[in-house]
Amino acid sequence: MNTQSFTQVGLLKLLENANIGVVIHAADTKVIYANPTALRLLRLSYNQIIGKDALDPQWHFIDEHGIPLPPAEYPVNRALSSITAVRDQILGVTDSSNPDIVWFSVNAYVEGEQRSDNCFVIVSFVDITDRKSEFSFADILHNTQDIVIVTEAEDVQAPFGPKVVYVNKAFESLTGFSADEIIGETPRILQGKDTSPEARKRIRIALEAKKPCREKILNYTKTGMPYWLDLSIIPLKNRYGEVTHFAAIERDITQTTYYNEKLEQRNKDLKIMREELELIIKERTEQLRQKNTELQRLAYDDYMTGLPNRKAFFQLAETQLARVQRHNQIFAIAILDIDLFKSINDSFGHDEGDKTIIAVAKTLRDSLRAEDACGRIGGEEFSIAIMAESDQTAQLLFERVRQNIAAQTLSLPHGGITVSIGYTQVSNTTELNLTQLMRLADRALYCAKNNGRNQVCRDRTNDEA
Ligand code: GH3
Ligand code: MG
Ligand code: MG
Repeated sequence: MNTQSFTQVGLLKLLENANIGVVIHAADTKVIYANPTALRLLRLSYNQIIGKDALDPQWHFIDEHGIPLPPAEYPVNRALSSITAVRDQILGVTDSSNPDIVWFSVNAYVEGEQRSDNCFVIVSFVDITDRKSEFSFADILHNTQDIVIVTEAEDVQAPFGPKVVYVNKAFESLTGFSADEIIGETPRILQGKDTSPEARKRIRIALEAKKPCREKILNYTKTGMPYWLDLSIIPLKNRYGEVTHFAAIERDITQTTYYNEKLEQRNKDLKIMREELELIIKERTEQLRQKNTELQRLAYDDYMTGLPNRKAFFQLAETQLARVQRHNQIFAIAILDIDLFKSINDSFGHDEGDKTIIAVAKTLRDSLRAEDACGRIGGEEFSIAIMAESDQTAQLLFERVRQNIAAQTLSLPHGGITVSIGYTQVSNTTELNLTQLMRLADRALYCAKNNGRNQVCRDRTNDEA
């Protein structure tokens, strides 16, 4: 298109079709023209605007901070009073019919000789309401407690990349680096000797792939103080979808990390303490169990011979008697007394006497069957309770006991010692109790002693016909 044909373009037609608002004022600021876009944007009809000057009370202009604009600041007046054109003046327009503010970016310039009566002021404007917000995201970003660092997405390779292009206030106050000092540098200067190489590698891989990532990482201030960060990196894209920058949003978690470590240590200590305590309790329980067994043994066993003591023997004998009464068996109970024991004590001493008692006890136990009961019921007196199948069983068994004791004690310094045994036996139908039966056995023992000792005597007063 040459100049000739270009000048033939109809400018009025252009204004009527342009997608920007254009208002033309005369030198006295009266509106002499407004294109359709201007009418639409200002929500006015042609008649409402033509002939109105800048001071007309229908204009409600506000500045970027929402403060009513003084008439001197209206673009038309600014253009008239200044020798330069007004460029990109941001102003809001309100009207009583609509509470929403419409925001314009306005240009204005004077056509013709400045301040002459026949100059014009051409005002053009576009609606930027969509771009304009009532608050500033930049302000939020700059003043948030979290740290924000924006880097370029180019050249992420160590040691120089990626380059920092923005840091907020929180960054400056935590790291001690001013924005001027860090911009153009790489955030790698914040890493140090204890920064995890694995975490660094993961970040580098994410940056190279232009992917988001999140890490806990140790960084250092300008003076070398370490601090823990919970860091998340977000790739930022331009309108063509290309990643041009990375925004790192970081939270200082030094305190929580410190307390978490403390807590972890404390939990470990507690676990060890608990394990130690459990071990102690286990040991104590075992000791207690042993003590109980020991106490039980002391309560039921005769300390010297290890046989059941008098009380324990009576319990065993009672059980046997009860059992015999339920079955078709014979119950025999015997009392065994060492013959002339006093003379052993007298001739060989009390200790030797004790040894004799122990030797007799052992032979007695060894001579009995497992199901037979015996016990030490007095100084050198023992008792035996058995359940017998036949009438002869008891006699044979007690006789064997007597012989065994005489034989086994032959090796003692005072030679073989003898015992006398008195016993009685009853069938399952007996109505005699244990004390009564013991008395009968004692009577038989008395007989054995009287008959010359070293023998087994049976009390027959109770024998059934
Ligand atoms: P016998 O029964 O044959 O009639 O004569 P004995 O000498 O055995 O008679 P006695 O029952 O009178 O004497 C028992 C003695 O046993 C009396 C006591 O000094 C002694 N004695 C009792 N218990 C013990 C003991 O535990 N150790 C010792 N060494 N002697 C005891
Ligand atoms: Mg005696
Ligand atoms: Mg005796």
